[in-house]
Amino acid sequence: MPDFDFAQPTSLDEALALFAAEGEVRALVGGTDIVDQLKTGRRNADMVVDVKRIPELQRLEMADDGLHIGAARALTDIGECPAVRSDYRGLADSSVLVGSWQIQNRAGLGGNVCNAAPSGDTIPSLLTHDASAIVASTSGRREIALSDFFAGPGQTVLQKGEILVEVVLPPIPDNSASAYLRFIPRNEMDIAVAGVGSFLQLNPSDNTVQKARIALASVAPTPVRARAAEEALEGNVLSDELIETAAVAAVGSATPISDVRGSAEYRRELVKVLTRRTLGICRDRISG
Ligand SMILES: Cc1cc2nc3c(=O)[nH]c(=O)nc-3n(C[C@H](O)[C@H](O)[C@H](O)COP(=O)(O)OP(=O)(O)OC[C@H]3O[C@@H](n4cnc5c(N)ncnc54)[C@H](O)[C@@H]3O)c2cc1C
Repeated sequence: MPDFDFAQPTSLDEALALFAAEGEVRALVGGTDIVDQLKTGRRNADMVVDVKRIPELQRLEMADDGLHIGAARALTDIGECPAVRSDYRGLADSSVLVGSWQIQNRAGLGGNVCNAAPSGDTIPSLLTHDASAIVASTSGRREIALSDFFAGPGQTVLQKGEILVEVVLPPIPDNSASAYLRFIPRNEMDIAVAGVGSFLQLNPSDNTVQKARIALASVAPTPVRARAAEEALEGNVLSDELIETAAVAAVGSATPISDVRGSAEYRRELVKVLTRRTLGICRDRISG
């Protein structure tokens, strides 16, 4: 492990002052990504700042403007949160898939988001719920739509001195539901070969799709929205045929690579299958 300074601030102001310092300053929540990256030289740091002790980054609260999840809040807490389990079920699906119980106890939502892996399992669910990122630096705060947060594999749009404070998910409309599924070749502890999150809002009187969101993991340089599939759904009456049309359209938003986990062709097929299945789960969840 290379040498670096280490700090554990207990307030956001104290943390932001540390992040404003010269050199490479990196946040640590659970350390399940960053520790290995520092050890293997894939990332470097002059200072590592453990942000878990900052109360604002531990927030997990339903407010008038939606669900606020602090960047350091553990995935276990998120997966067990009653509001997440009732209203943001795709996020509950994702949180309990990451690694193992030990990883979920340790890792924070902000770590999964800021690591910016194309395979980050919570990210498609956050995208389908139109989440936004609240980031802060000594210069102030700004809000970034999560769909604009990722700049490439392992890259975000965060500027020097900025950290993620929280993620906010707007309140869900009536008659809506979300779901997330991924494919891995074994039961757990693997990175998604492909993952799909879906969200549907239906008009209860005629089953027309009022709002659709589909987001894909592990099939592009960043997690991506499948906008053509969303457009294929919105305004039309939900049926098996429409779901199939959307599943085929979702494939067009995937630009996968072939690697040890699967070929590009296999990943495209997975996008179709997982889109079909997650839309079906959303339909079932809406109908109760
Ligand atoms: C055995 C194992 C299995 C895993 N399985 C999965 C899996 O199934 N699915 C999956 O998606 N991932 C998986 N991972 C990867 C990892 O566990 C997750 O990405 C996890 O959510 C990272 O969270 P963390 O809190 O540990 O992040 P950390 O390692 O603490 O941080 C990750 C990155 O985010 C940055 N960061 C953290 N917080 C902030 C902040 N507030 N502001 C700015 N930057 C910040 C850090 O500087 C670092 O670059 C696995 C890892 C291991 C070791």
